[in-house]
Amino acid sequence: MTGGFATLQVQAGFTAGQSFTSAVPAIHQTAAYEFSSLQEAADLFALRKPGIIYSRNASPTQLILEERVAALEGGTSAVAVASGQAAVAVTLLALAGRGGHIVAADQLYGGTVDLLQDTLDDFGIAVTFVDQDDPDAWRAAIRPDTRAVFAEIVANPVAQVLDTRLVADIAHAAGVPLVVDSTVGTPALVRPGDHGADFVVHSATKFLAGHGSSLGGMVVDQGTFDFGAEPERWPQFTQPHTRFGDLVLWERFGQGRAFAVLVKSKYVHDLGPSLSPFNAWQILQGIETLDLRVARQSASGLTIAQHLAQHPSVAKVNHPGLAGNPWHALAERYLPNGVPSVYSFEIAGDEQDAFARISRLVEELKYFRLVANLGDARSLISHPASMTHSHLTAEQRAAAGISLNTVRLSIGIEDPADLIADLDRALALI
Ligand SMILES: *Cc1c(COP(=O)(O)O)cnc(C)c1O
Repeated sequence: MTGGFATLQVQAGFTAGQSFTSAVPAIHQTAAYEFSSLQEAADLFALRKPGIIYSRNASPTQLILEERVAALEGGTSAVAVASGQAAVAVTLLALAGRGGHIVAADQLYGGTVDLLQDTLDDFGIAVTFVDQDDPDAWRAAIRPDTRAVFAEIVANPVAQVLDTRLVADIAHAAGVPLVVDSTVGTPALVRPGDHGADFVVHSATKFLAGHGSSLGGMVVDQGTFDFGAEPERWPQFTQPHTRFGDLVLWERFGQGRAFAVLVKSKYVHDLGPSLSPFNAWQILQGIETLDLRVARQSASGLTIAQHLAQHPSVAKVNHPGLAGNPWHALAERYLPNGVPSVYSFEIAGDEQDAFARISRLVEELKYFRLVANLGDARSLISHPASMTHSHLTAEQRAAAGISLNTVRLSIGIEDPADLIADLDRALALI
């Protein structure tokens, strides 16, 4: 290339579209993508042709991540976004955006509760919370304007296992899709789509990435929900979109792809919670070792739970892998390859001085980090009542099974013997 210094400093040595043969997915750290012609640009903007316009909508690294997670979940398409929060938000907006109603489990991640009862309320979306273990409560809460049923495959910190098939059947009988947050489950242990979930969301920040270094979120369409069966109920799929030249998404993209197109080209495009190419790359790196990490974490988690269950300073361990746990049978059914390593225990003693004693516990522990995260390679500890679930009312916390004595663990990939010794030493001191 020839030209003046100022021209060369921005253009020399680079041709858009040139491909290299790097063995690992490349990071395409660019805001925009070059069109081969104005006609191509016009076709891409009108969704007539697939392709990448701008990094707010996609990047090649992100497309690889989407294809990979869709494959792991057995889905038909996926959308990667900036965080797990964004994944839940865009999914529910795409389903219930026009003042719809959502039925959600009481036993949800605290950030999701904030989203549902505060921010989605601003959008005119109403939410009814129900005890996820009560089938009659699910049935009674669904109304004619319900557009989504939402729950987590394994809730935290109490590790209640969702009877996914049962809730899916109730939702489907009412013509409503089931959305499952499988952040804690991961496709290495359970694929909610195999048990009736229509959409699966993840905080990729957690086990999928596994390194605790990057935020990200995933939405997976299982391709099972037929928005065309009751077209008047789902105008976002069956009515023309003026902005896309009167395109009807259901006609053009069909079951299994229309949802991802709506999420990406409307909600992510307009609201902007895009995944950075660098974070997409980091999450891809993490996913390569997902099943190895989760197998270790799950095995260590159970060993440590069994140990804590015998410990005099521990009143109770909430781990569904333990016989006698109320969700043990559901864990055997849905999690035959292992239970997630995110669970909790109740320290023995009065709730009154729980905060002081748990503060001491956290200070004494050498290997457990006090963080709001979970699913990291490192072992983590938290106090839900003063952290992730502190925005909940006392009644909401009680409904989610959380007391002031509840301590949440997320077991990492360290040597389990070290983790047990650490817990024993710290518990002895409180
Ligand atoms: C962390 C988490 C989220 C939110 O994900 P972020 O990536 O932190 O935005 C949603 N659901 C569950 C179950 C989570 O653990």
